[in-house]
Amino acid sequence: MPVTMPFSRDEQLKIEAAIKDAERLTSGEIRLFVDKHCHINVLDRAAFIFHEIGMDKTAERNGVLIYLAVESRQFAIIGDSGIHRHVGDELWHEVRTEMQHHFLSGDLTGGVVHGILAAGEALGRYFPLKKDDRDELSNEIVFGK
Ligand code: CA
Ligand code: CA
Repeated sequence: MPVTMPFSRDEQLKIEAAIKDAERLTSGEIRLFVDKHCHINVLDRAAFIFHEIGMDKTAERNGVLIYLAVESRQFAIIGDSGIHRHVGDELWHEVRTEMQHHFLSGDLTGGVVHGILAAGEALGRYFPLKKDDRDELSNEIVFGK
């Protein structure tokens, strides 16, 4: 069974636009992966997906993944070693809590957009945009099978 689409076309565009906006501040790369279920520890699953979709291939190791398992109602936000070295677990906990507020009020898109913008801000502090920046990882949402 494919993932039930949790976002309308407009919401999807809004999320992808937020990623594009966030990446205007930084050389870092932000992605959203949407799964249906997560049967294992959500951080382990996010780390697996991170590798699986090649997010560990950025030059500065500064990719950030927002992982969402819609029907399991679980999510995680994790960063590669480059950014993690600077912000540690603390920042991700903080962003997670803020995202959760949106999710609990039923605003899935708002929570995701918040996470994207917060990740962009954090990345921008340590990895400002460079003149020769390229979009190393597509801004499109990745859907699990
Ligand atoms: Ca980039
Ligand atoms: Ca990108």
